[in-house]
Amino acid sequence: MALSQIEMARVPITEGIFTSLGDEAQLVGGRCAACGMVTFPSQGSCPRCASTDMAEHLLPRRGRLWAWTTQNYPPPSPPYAGPTGRDFAPFGIGYVELGDDVRVETRLTEADPDALSTGMEMALTLIPLRTDEDGNEVVTFAFEPVA
Ligand SMILES: [Zn+2]
Repeated sequence: MALSQIEMARVPITEGIFTSLGDEAQLVGGRCAACGMVTFPSQGSCPRCASTDMAEHLLPRRGRLWAWTTQNYPPPSPPYAGPTGRDFAPFGIGYVELGDDVRVETRLTEADPDALSTGMEMALTLIPLRTDEDGNEVVTFAFEPVA
């Protein structure tokens, strides 16, 4: 069998951080039942009121760009798990406001800061990050400008 016929499995960078690997994937956050605070990723207790009554809360797929920069060198690892050395390519990172709920720190598909603007509409997408030791394609989330 030719190598190209072997289908690579796709696996999420962190289990449970998004709902699926398909086009309708949503980020999984947490919502405090006591005060309504929304967090991403979900947490065991509320950062505002310390309640431990946190429920799973799916975040909107679209939001507005709030702040951004370009990551020109590999971040410290861990937590960074992407390519390093010659395989590294600069990428955009930023905060996207999802509804009134929460600001999510995220990768951006656009690495050129001049191509981005405050309040720009952004949509969730899933991008390949690297190939793991088992040959699986590791997928992470990012936001891309809505054309
Ligand atoms: Zn709370």
